[in-house]
Amino acid sequence: MSGAARTPNAERPRAQLPEKDVLTVRWLAILASVAVVGFGYVYRVVLPEAHDPWIYRFVVAGVCLLVAGMSFLPGRPGFIPAVYTLFGVITAWVVVLLGMNEFAPEYALGLVVIAAIISAVLRSTRALAVYGAATLAGVALVAARIPEPRVSPQLFGSYLVVILVLFYIVVRNRLRAEREIAASEERYALAAQGAHDGLWDWDLRRGVLYLSPRWKEIVGCEDGEIGSDPAGWFDRIHPDDRARVDADLFRRGQGAGALFESEHRVRHSDGGWRWVLVRGVWVTDSRGAIVRMAGSQTDISQRKHFEEQLLHDALHDSLTGLPNRALFLDRLERAIAHTHRHPERQFAVIFLDLDRFKVINDRVGHLAADQVLQAIAERLLRCLRAGDSVARLGGDEFALLLEDVDNPAVVAQRVQHELQAPFEVAGQQLGVTASLGIAISSTGFSRPVDVLRDADAAMYRAKARGRARVEIADAELHAHSLSQLELESQLREAVENGELRLHFQPIVVMETRELVGFEALLRWQHPGRGLIGPEEFIPLAEQTGMIMPVGRWALRDGCRQMREWRGAFPEAHRLWLSVNLSSRQFLHPQLVQEIHAVLAETGFPPDRLRLEITESVIMDDPATVTRVLQRLRESGIRVALDDFGTGYSSLAYLHRLPLDTLKIDRSFVHQMHTDPALQAVIQTVISLSDSLRLDTVAEGVETDEDARALHRMGCRLGQGFLFSRPLAPADAGHILAALPAVLAAPQPPR
Ligand code: C2E
Ligand code: CA
Ligand code: CA
Repeated sequence: MSGAARTPNAERPRAQLPEKDVLTVRWLAILASVAVVGFGYVYRVVLPEAHDPWIYRFVVAGVCLLVAGMSFLPGRPGFIPAVYTLFGVITAWVVVLLGMNEFAPEYALGLVVIAAIISAVLRSTRALAVYGAATLAGVALVAARIPEPRVSPQLFGSYLVVILVLFYIVVRNRLRAEREIAASEERYALAAQGAHDGLWDWDLRRGVLYLSPRWKEIVGCEDGEIGSDPAGWFDRIHPDDRARVDADLFRRGQGAGALFESEHRVRHSDGGWRWVLVRGVWVTDSRGAIVRMAGSQTDISQRKHFEEQLLHDALHDSLTGLPNRALFLDRLERAIAHTHRHPERQFAVIFLDLDRFKVINDRVGHLAADQVLQAIAERLLRCLRAGDSVARLGGDEFALLLEDVDNPAVVAQRVQHELQAPFEVAGQQLGVTASLGIAISSTGFSRPVDVLRDADAAMYRAKARGRARVEIADAELHAHSLSQLELESQLREAVENGELRLHFQPIVVMETRELVGFEALLRWQHPGRGLIGPEEFIPLAEQTGMIMPVGRWALRDGCRQMREWRGAFPEAHRLWLSVNLSSRQFLHPQLVQEIHAVLAETGFPPDRLRLEITESVIMDDPATVTRVLQRLRESGIRVALDDFGTGYSSLAYLHRLPLDTLKIDRSFVHQMHTDPALQAVIQTVISLSDSLRLDTVAEGVETDEDARALHRMGCRLGQGFLFSRPLAPADAGHILAALPAVLAAPQPPR
């Protein structure tokens, strides 16, 4: 064994006979010895005249056996003492053969006693070899000094050779076996060392525990520090784990050789706790009682640490370290259970969504925006009392759980106040506002998701009512959000079930009423409720992401319908088709490809397609929008800015966007006659549109008066009930069929 691989002797297991067999052999040997010695004694002392040299041999053999038996120790194979015994018998026989009968017993006995002592002390084959050689030399010496041997020297010599050969064979086999054991011990020691495991061996009958140095190292002790008292081990086990360890280690009904395992904490000398995995085997006696246990101890602190880390990560947001949605819902569930037991206690959930965070994201970049989110998390934590919690639900959404609160609106105001101070990131001062929705437990919730949904709905209302404000969920909102939920699940099926329809509203030259195009407007043919307008389900579709399949369907069906008309009516070739896109659709990375795919599939020319987007789309993400607009423009597709005037400061960047059409919102048109200031606004918008070389379409034209006024102001195109309501495809088809008779359609304006 090399120096590096050497392990302390105590770590090596010994080749062992099963203890039960050792004990049996020992007792048999002792009994047999006593019987033979007794027989020999009676023969020689009680009946001296009958003595015969062969009797001595029995006596000698008996004593040898006795000593051999005595030299057995528990757990040791009986091999070495048995060989000594054999030597003793042979020696006695040789001495008798040589005619030295009187000395035979004493001589042989002496040799065997010495052998036994050597065997007990050294227990090694090497000692056996030395002893055997000495014995044979002694015999040879004695033989040489006998003046008149009874046997010839040749015969004696051949005896010696036979014994020598036997001896050689025995010793060689023995050494070989020992080498094999040593090799396997070395393998085992290396494996134990490589596994970096501690070893332990506990003799329960003697109450002695052996712990290897590595075992002690795991708990931070020096080799000598823990004695052989099992208390040194068991007192270190964590009090919370102790009962479990006892149960694992002393499980009933386990036979010998069965394995056990236990994961628990043990106290380290530094005062901390370490996780260990203890494995072992039981040794039982004939009655099945555990008499000994031995095994290994592995330090699994690191693994446990990783496991805990994983668990923590699964329940927390990595950016802010706040609890995530899963953990928040879990806490909410507890809060609900708590109010069921104590109805006088009220909890509240505040749902918080930052206003226009995407703009910040684009302006300062993701890294800086992340810093803002972290800073917000810190500020939110400041608004909480003990027992409350705040979570990041994802993106720029946070939620606060206020337990036992009387007036959550006060907390909401405190939150808004905290957010007022600008955030300093990347050398910039950033102002952030948030829309907050509150749900209160008194509304009678049973599921966490319901509470969160109501708070979410209230937050949406806060957004709809102008952002940076607080709304509280009430019974009406609760009912609304429930019906929305139902509608949402039905909408998912609506696309597949073919319940969506497109209606087409004509867009005309106001002066001549020539048809220039259609706007495709979605309808939902609901199986129970009849035709539902888009105002009711488009916002829902946008919230849930359903707008993607819904919008895709509208685009494809619009183009498909147009191609059908183009096939049937030559005049239809001049018409354009307007399709509305919501912001989520517009910002989808695959948008342009998808549109191209639809156009290719339906054979509708790109320059006859007009996509309508609202100002809010641009506000959400101006940089991306500009890029997408450019790509659309490159492929010939036109874009209209819808509902113009309802948004914010869009005039500022209007000239930078590659647009084709501006649609004046119908609310302007409707109030135009009652509010002269609005006329001035419309006039300005039309002039601006002209100067940017855009088409202007007035929406919501309901009366001749509207049409005349708008025309006077320079607006060429119009859309409204005055000309036509949105039409089902069949009705739109009738108009197309009558086209040549009605108008010589001018070229669609560029
Ligand atoms: P919008 O884009 O502003 O569409 C024009 C709306 O004004 C239509 O309402 C139309 O019926 C209505 N309208 C037309 N002429 C008049 C009029 O003279 N007086 C009045 N009071 N209203 C008039 P509709 O069809 O209910 O659509 C509502 C909104 O739903 C649309 O507003 C559009 O934003 C959205 N929408 C419709 N279809 C789609 C779609 O396929 N995708 C997306 N994302 N949104 C759509
Ligand atoms: Ca529109
Ligand atoms: Ca519009």
